[in-house]
Amino acid sequence: MSQFDQLYRQVALSVATHPVVEKVVSKQGWALAQRFVSGESAEDAIEAIKRLEQSGILGNLDLLGEFVTTPEPANQNTELILQAMDKVHAAGLTPYNSIKLSSIGQGQQIGGQDLGDVNARRIVARAKQYGGFVNLDMEDHPRVDETLRLFRELVQEFGNQHVGTVLQAYLHRTEEDRRSLDDLKPNLRIVKGAYLEPESVAMQDKAEIDAAYRRLVYEHLQAGNYCNVATHDHNIIYDVMHFELAHGIPKSQFEFQLLYGIREDLQRELAAQGYTVRSYIPFGKEWYGYYSRRIAERPKNVLFVLRGLI
Ligand SMILES: Cc1cc2nc3c(=O)[nH]c(=O)nc-3n(C[C@H](O)[C@H](O)[C@H](O)COP(=O)(O)OP(=O)(O)OC[C@H]3O[C@@H](n4cnc5c(N)ncnc54)[C@H](O)[C@@H]3O)c2cc1C
Repeated sequence: MSQFDQLYRQVALSVATHPVVEKVVSKQGWALAQRFVSGESAEDAIEAIKRLEQSGILGNLDLLGEFVTTPEPANQNTELILQAMDKVHAAGLTPYNSIKLSSIGQGQQIGGQDLGDVNARRIVARAKQYGGFVNLDMEDHPRVDETLRLFRELVQEFGNQHVGTVLQAYLHRTEEDRRSLDDLKPNLRIVKGAYLEPESVAMQDKAEIDAAYRRLVYEHLQAGNYCNVATHDHNIIYDVMHFELAHGIPKSQFEFQLLYGIREDLQRELAAQGYTVRSYIPFGKEWYGYYSRRIAERPKNVLFVLRGLI
């Protein structure tokens, strides 16, 4: 990342959290969000899965919404996720979902239990019932300890073939976290990291983050674990392909994951080459937080917003 890109990302993420900006951009509604979001309903998301399946691409559903602070919306979100899984199963597909623990009650104590734990258990149990999979997304750094603690418990209860989580390459702690999970033979998604984090906890330099990303993927694969290589960075994707060939890593031990609406040409190209490719498909009404992180990742996407606003 050039210094400009770095500064751009910091400014974009700070501006996005300003209430006036949020109000103005939110008002433009779907016209802006549609590029990155499949629709408001689970049915829209299922249509997207079916469309992508025609190109050999799998789906990973994400109900939009995050950082809720009271039990009612947390429980509502949980119900919507469970219903989406039922609908995916009824459509003859295997549910694969990503969940944000902050959207289902993480940190809210109810009857001596963490509501996020309770709701995550319900979701993973339902996935297991359908032979499906749930990924615990990783959010901002204060949530990492609790997310990894819950992930360990869920793997022990439901098995590593039904639940995975995410590690963010930009955090200084992540190499150590990855090693500490090895005993679980975990299914991990490796990402660069999407939140505005201080220097004390996260690397700020693009080259440093990219190097950490490669190291994490290579170590995880060499430890014999399943890896979700989640990036749009074609240089990293081609390096992982090279690493796989050079080290005799079977194609069945990893997959490429990209976001819905981003580099779909690359997604199709990878699938055509016989790689497992999964598109992260957001749906729902709470699109603002997700959308602003996508804008912050890429200056060119601002033009898209400005055109929409004008
Ligand atoms: C499947 C998936 C799941 C994720 N889950 C999480 C998570 O749980 N927690 C978390 O913190 N982050 C998550 N992320 C986001 C991630 O941390 C990065 O912020 C995001 O992927 C951008 O980084 P990059 O690896 O694509 O590389 P970058 O270095 O940002 O980009 C590399 C190239 O990809 C293209 N590109 C990147 N972003 C865009 C865009 N928005 N629009 C168009 N082109 C683009 C550009 O050509 C760019 O040069 C996830 C990402 C993916 C793909």
